[in-house]
Amino acid sequence: MPVPSDEVIVVGAGPTGLALAGELALAGARCRVLEQRPARSRDSRAICLHARSTEMLDLRGLSERFVEAGLPVPSFPVGPKGAVIDFRRLDSDFPYLLDMPQSQIEEFLERWARELGVRIVRGARVTEVGQTPGEALLTLEDGTIERAAYVVGCDGLRSTVRQCLNVPFPGYPNPGSVALADLFLDGLPMTDAYGEITDNGLLLVFPFRDGSCRVVLYDYARADMPVTEPVGFEELRESLLRISGRDFAPRDMYWSSRYRSESRQAPRYRVGRVFLAGDAAHTHSPAGAQGLNTGFQDAFNLGWKLGAAIRGRAPSWLLDSYHEERHPVGADVLRLTGRQFKLNTARTPARQLMRWAAYNLALPLPPVQSLLARTYSGVAIRYRPRNDTPHALEGQRFPRGRLSRPDGTSTRLYDLFHDGRFVLFVRPPAAVPDDLPGDVRVVAYSGNGRPGWPAAVLVRPDGYVAWASDTAGPATVGQAVRGWFSAS
Ligand SMILES: Cc1cc2nc3c(=O)[nH]c(=O)nc-3n(C[C@H](O)[C@H](O)[C@H](O)COP(=O)(O)OP(=O)(O)OC[C@H]3O[C@@H](n4cnc5c(N)ncnc54)[C@H](O)[C@@H]3O)c2cc1C
Repeated sequence: MPVPSDEVIVVGAGPTGLALAGELALAGARCRVLEQRPARSRDSRAICLHARSTEMLDLRGLSERFVEAGLPVPSFPVGPKGAVIDFRRLDSDFPYLLDMPQSQIEEFLERWARELGVRIVRGARVTEVGQTPGEALLTLEDGTIERAAYVVGCDGLRSTVRQCLNVPFPGYPNPGSVALADLFLDGLPMTDAYGEITDNGLLLVFPFRDGSCRVVLYDYARADMPVTEPVGFEELRESLLRISGRDFAPRDMYWSSRYRSESRQAPRYRVGRVFLAGDAAHTHSPAGAQGLNTGFQDAFNLGWKLGAAIRGRAPSWLLDSYHEERHPVGADVLRLTGRQFKLNTARTPARQLMRWAAYNLALPLPPVQSLLARTYSGVAIRYRPRNDTPHALEGQRFPRGRLSRPDGTSTRLYDLFHDGRFVLFVRPPAAVPDDLPGDVRVVAYSGNGRPGWPAAVLVRPDGYVAWASDTAGPATVGQAVRGWFSAS
C-alpha cells in the first residue's frame, strides 16, 4: 500500500500555474509543476497586470520587480478614440495598468516559484487524471504514474485535467478573429494606451517599457481569416491604415498572432482532490484584459487554502470555498467582457447608437468611471462573508495604507503579508487570547488613518478580510480566529 502523498501537483506552467506554485510553496506545501512544453514560451499573449494583481504581488513583496520591468499606463482604452477608463483616482498604490508581456510575467513568476523550492518539470505532458478517496493520480505521456494529495489543472483552455474530470465547458466561440502584433509605431506617442473604432474596425495599442507596443486589430475586412493564418507585416500595415486612416509608421514587428476568443466557464472548479484554475476554468474575450488577471487571482485564492489542507489545518469547508468564491467572479468577468466585446464589434445602426451613447454619455460620468475603474482593475472583488451577521468589512479587499503602532512606529500594511500568513490586527485595549493558532500573526495598532476602523480585524493571506469586530473581547476573538483553522 503506497504511502499517501503530501504533494500538490500543478499541471501547466502558465501564469496561473506558476503563481499558484509560488503560493503553495509559501504556504508550506510540497509542490511540483508538470508542463508539457520543453522550454518556457516566448509568446507574449496577454499584456498587462491590473491593479489588484499588482497588489497581490505587493502582498508577497514582489511588486517592485514587476513595476520596474513594466510600464505603468494611466488608462485603459475601451474602444472609440478618447473613450477610456481612467485609473488615476483608484484607491490603490498601483493606480494604473502595468503593461508587460505575458512571457516576462511568466519568467518572473517562475523565478519566484523556484526561489521558494518549487520543482518545475518540463516536457511532462499529463494524459490522464484519476483519483481515489485518499489521493489523486496522474498519468504522463511516457506512462509514468504520479501520485499527489491534490492536483490543480492550470492547463489552459483545452485543459486535459478538466476533460478527464468530465467537467463540461459550456459557452461559444466569439465571432471574428483578431490580429495581434508586437512592434514599434513611430507615429504614436508611447505614453498611454490608445484606441479607436471606425467603420472599418477596432484598433487598440498598449505601450511597453522598451518603446515598442502591442497592437490589437479587429479589421472587419479580415475578421474571417482562420487563426492558423500567420499575421505578416504587410497585412498589419494595411489593416492599421484601413482602420485608422493614419500612417503610424510601424516597424520592426517581432511577434504576431491571430486569435479567436471563446466565452466559456466550467460549472465546477473542484471535483474531489482535483481543482481547476485560470483558463482551464474560464475563458472569455480579451476585451478588458481580464484573462491572465482572473487566473492569477484564482491562484492567490486557492494557494493558501490547499497549503492549509496539506498541513491538516483547513476546516472542512475551506477547500469548497475556492469554487464558491471564484466561480461568481469568473461569471462576472464573462458578463463584463461579453458586453464590451458586443459593443465594440457592433455593426448594426441600432447597436452602434447604443455604443455611441455608452461611450459618449455614460462613460465620462464620474460615478461610471469610478465603478468601471474598480471593476476592471479587480479592486471591487469581494467575497461572501462566512458570518450570518457580518461586519461591513468582511469579505472585502483589505485596503492599502500604513498603520501606526502603540510604540509610535508605523508599518506599511501590505508588508505584513510577505510570508503568506493570516494577520490579526488588534487595537488596545482589545485583548487577544494566548492560545491563537501559530498560523496567525498578531499586530497591535493604534490607528491606520481610516476613521471608524474596528478594534479587531482578521485578514486572510490573500488580503481579504476574514472577520472584523468593533466590540469583541478575547473569547470572541479567539473563537472567530479558530473558526478559520481546524483543531488538529
Ligand atoms: C493570442 C492570445 C492573446 C491573448 N491576449 C490576451 C490579452 O491581451 N489579455 C488577457 O488578459 N488575456 C489574453 N489572452 C489570454 C491569456 O493569455 C490567458 O488568459 C492566460 O494565458 C491564462 O493563463 P493560464 O496559466 O490559465 O493558462 P495558459 O497560459 O494557457 O497555460 C497553460 C499551460 O498548461 C500547459 N499544458 C496544457 N496542457 C497540458 C498537459 N496536458 N500537461 C502538461 N501541461 C499542459 C500549456 O503548455 C501551458 O503552458 C490571450 C490569449 C491568446 C492565445
